[in-house]
Amino acid sequence: MKNIYDITFDELEEYFLSLGEKKFKANQLYTWLYDKKVKSFDEMSDIKKIIIDKLKEDYYIGNIKLDKVEKDELVSKYLFELYDKEHVESVLMRHDYGLSICVSSQVGCNMGCKFCESGRRKKVRNLTSGEMLEQILKIEEDINEKISHVVIMGIGEPFDNYENVTSFIKIINHPKGLAIGSRHITLSTCGIVPKIKEFAHFPYQVNLAVSLHAPNDELRNKIMPINKAYPIKEVIDALKYYYKETNRRITFEYIMLDGVNDSPNEALELCRLLKGLNCYINLIPYNETNNIEFKRTKKDVIIKFYDIIKKNGMNVTIRKEFGSNISAACGQLRSKKEDL
Ligand code: SAH
Repeated sequence: MKNIYDITFDELEEYFLSLGEKKFKANQLYTWLYDKKVKSFDEMSDIKKIIIDKLKEDYYIGNIKLDKVEKDELVSKYLFELYDKEHVESVLMRHDYGLSICVSSQVGCNMGCKFCESGRRKKVRNLTSGEMLEQILKIEEDINEKISHVVIMGIGEPFDNYENVTSFIKIINHPKGLAIGSRHITLSTCGIVPKIKEFAHFPYQVNLAVSLHAPNDELRNKIMPINKAYPIKEVIDALKYYYKETNRRITFEYIMLDGVNDSPNEALELCRLLKGLNCYINLIPYNETNNIEFKRTKKDVIIKFYDIIKKNGMNVTIRKEFGSNISAACGQLRSKKEDL
């Protein structure tokens, strides 16, 4: 038995063809799942009984449970329990442009970034596309509103779960699925080079963000172990290739760690590194956590860093802060319930 939410529209069409049925049945089924949002096959009243019975043999509808919600003014944090009693968190953010959800892609994470709470627990397993999708469905159900934006920036490294993450994008983007526009979907990676190149050929116009956090290998090696496998030059070359293939602007995330990566020299080095790339630099005030000793750069130092980059003619923003009151900010999500 499989989770029906794992199935892309194209796969569903093939499934119906294999049963000797017309492929437009996929349309009907997606409408029941994502428009009418039914929770059982028996409610799908325009599908004939014999097919319903077959569907029930092959699939079930959903398997994650909402365990706990913490609500703050503009942010809510959702804890979900998965079928194997593992947990992940997702974050809902109210922006002036709409509602966005930060989705987790794995239980735990193997990337081991030194500053990140989520990575203190090794990867237990990948989430399926359905488990990612259900984070959205459950939150929409909870607030009775439609989500307009999705960022794949919760727990996990999405490019370490490439197949499921790309299926997830296909389903949420499909007009009969959640119909979330590809430009409203952002995936963030720590820089897995072969997958960046593969993603250049993924035919959906989603946004790509790269967690850079340091302008040279010596420093990046210290805070992001993945840099030893894929050093900065290889990441930049892969991104140039990505840009050549997709023509899509890249976002670089740069968390500001007090005394670690925030000097004027490092700002200049960052400009030299990224000069000529069509990109945005997003400076992220570091969210401190109890278990990790890094501190957030002081506000005036962040502004100085910002000014240097701006003066060098690059696109740069300071990320608006969200969710730190309820430990729902970047890098604060956890997959272990006992830790919460
Ligand atoms: N694995 C992916 C996506 C998850 S993290 C990636 O590395 O991009 C999402 C973003 O939050 C990344 O840029 C990550 O480096 C950043 N982040 C991690 N811990 C943080 C913290 N404590 N404060 C602010 N940002 C953090």
